[in-house]
Amino acid sequence: MRTAFVVSVIATALILESCARARDSSSLTCGLNENVSIAEARASLCGFDVARRRFAGTASEQARCLLRQVKLGAQIGAPNAPSRLTDRAGTPLSFSRQRVEAYATQNNIALADLGLTSAKPLTAEYFVIHDTSAPNCSEVTTPTASCPAPAQFPPDRDQPQWPVNSSFGGHKPPTTLKPTAHAWTNRVGGSIVEAPFETHISHVKFDYCHDADSKRGLFLGVENIQPRIGKPASPPPGQRANDLVAPVPGFTEAQYRRLALLYVAASARRGHWLIPAFHAVIDAKYADGHDDPQNFDVVLFDRVLAGLIASLEKADPGPNVMVSRAATPASPNGYERNIGGESVAHWTIIGKGTNEEGAGKSFGVTLDTDTGKWIAVGPSVDLFFATKSGNYRIVAAPERGTRLENASASEAAFFTNLVGSTPVGATGNGRASEKGLLFTWKLDSK
Ligand SMILES: [Zn+2]
Repeated sequence: MRTAFVVSVIATALILESCARARDSSSLTCGLNENVSIAEARASLCGFDVARRRFAGTASEQARCLLRQVKLGAQIGAPNAPSRLTDRAGTPLSFSRQRVEAYATQNNIALADLGLTSAKPLTAEYFVIHDTSAPNCSEVTTPTASCPAPAQFPPDRDQPQWPVNSSFGGHKPPTTLKPTAHAWTNRVGGSIVEAPFETHISHVKFDYCHDADSKRGLFLGVENIQPRIGKPASPPPGQRANDLVAPVPGFTEAQYRRLALLYVAASARRGHWLIPAFHAVIDAKYADGHDDPQNFDVVLFDRVLAGLIASLEKADPGPNVMVSRAATPASPNGYERNIGGESVAHWTIIGKGTNEEGAGKSFGVTLDTDTGKWIAVGPSVDLFFATKSGNYRIVAAPERGTRLENASASEAAFFTNLVGSTPVGATGNGRASEKGLLFTWKLDSK
């Protein structure tokens, strides 16, 4: 399995193009990934319905699907966006457009940079988040201002003096470049509007490859500047560099703040919250695929957005929204902490294997609802878990449940239907991801 994965990553690397380049008219190809039928491509990963002009499910369910994590090489993970973010989709705003404009003015942000100088109605329903995948510093062989050291990330990429932050990769108006998105953010918290929000431009293959008429004006796109390097960082002689590797963190907090403000502005113009989406999820069925956005911290984005909304809901405009990464939300995992006045700090779950070497073997998992940590124990625990502790959180559609993660945030196990309101004695199914084993679970106590 390991070998197969490596081969597939290398194959992806060879065909991967930067987000911006893939939209050039010369590469408007609509080839499908292996074993994908045209019907599957028309439906996409999230069940697009041409007649409804929507993906499957409620706005919240669509957001859960469309914000599935985008992993290295465009692998799509399970849904893991916070429900506070996804449940807002499609609902009315709790403040006016005028309030957003007043906030922008108070914070010295030009309304033009947020798409707020036009009164034309929007038709968009989806707020599509991209990364530019550029500049690719593995493509340069001699130092440039944007890539001062070939095959390395620019050390000043998060500083105002990094040229891409001021030029927006050459897309800052006036420019002769073709618009590749409606708006862009840079890494120091600035933005530009490249195409009026009410206009249709193609920034995903999904909107022109099949059923283009039904998707016209449906997707509002935002590019977020992110440099890349290849894997390997220096391509072998005679080979072209890929752009597989993104910096960590993928985006700056200032960039999330401006992205959140653009999301607010576009939703205020639309009259309800747009459905947030990741580019790579929308285009997941298409070959020559897109892997953006990489290293997008959906929890931090949710937190920044919630802070911004709180400021907008106040009668008095607040200062620039500053949200600490260390801030602790009131109920980070959505679990009941308090039942009948009693603090409920630990849940215990018994898992029992149902296949392969795990069949009939059991393990225990404790969820600490105060810290969001999990620990797995038991004589057979090594059969199921490569790592035995980490953080957990509720994830969403297609099956609501709980994800256990290891220290590197990859999935250690998944407990279908285990949510905050699950009663003691409830049962369900699960998957120990690291070992590939299946199990049933029972909530033993809480
Ligand atoms: Zn993109």
